Amino acid sequence: MDCIFCKIVKKEIPAKILFEDELVVAFPDIHPFAPVHILIIPKEHIETIADLQDKHEKLTGRLVMTAKKLADKAGISQNGYKLLFRVKKHGGQEVPHIHLHLIGGAKLSENIRPIK
Ligand code: AMP
Ligand code: ZN
Repeated sequence: MDCIFCKIVKKEIPAKILFEDELVVAFPDIHPFAPVHILIIPKEHIETIADLQDKHEKLTGRLVMTAKKLADKAGISQNGYKLLFRVKKHGGQEVPHIHLHLIGGAKLSENIRPIK
């Protein structure tokens, strides 16, 4: 399968792995839009949050807990940060493999209004 994030999971393309366990992998976003911008992804290829099933509850929790721990490690937990899942076309999702954006290290602007 030609999925860029599956290739990162399989170490077929390089990424600086910040965290890895049996369920998830985390690495810096290649085009960061804040001082801290990390992607946390499931090892399993699941295209979007809309595709999750009840059996993925543990995985979903692991994605958020990994983001929380990496935020602690990056020293941004006191001031705060954003966690973002883009979902499909209206959500602006470009890579069809679930990824949780951890974004912080600066005060972030709001940018979630519908495009006119
Ligand atoms: P989204 O728009 O939510 O689908 O976000 C996809 C994100 O993946 C973007 O922020 C990209 O910069 C990032 N990205 C794409 N390819 C890579 C890669 N090879 N390594 C790290 N981040 C990537
Ligand atoms: Zn994939």
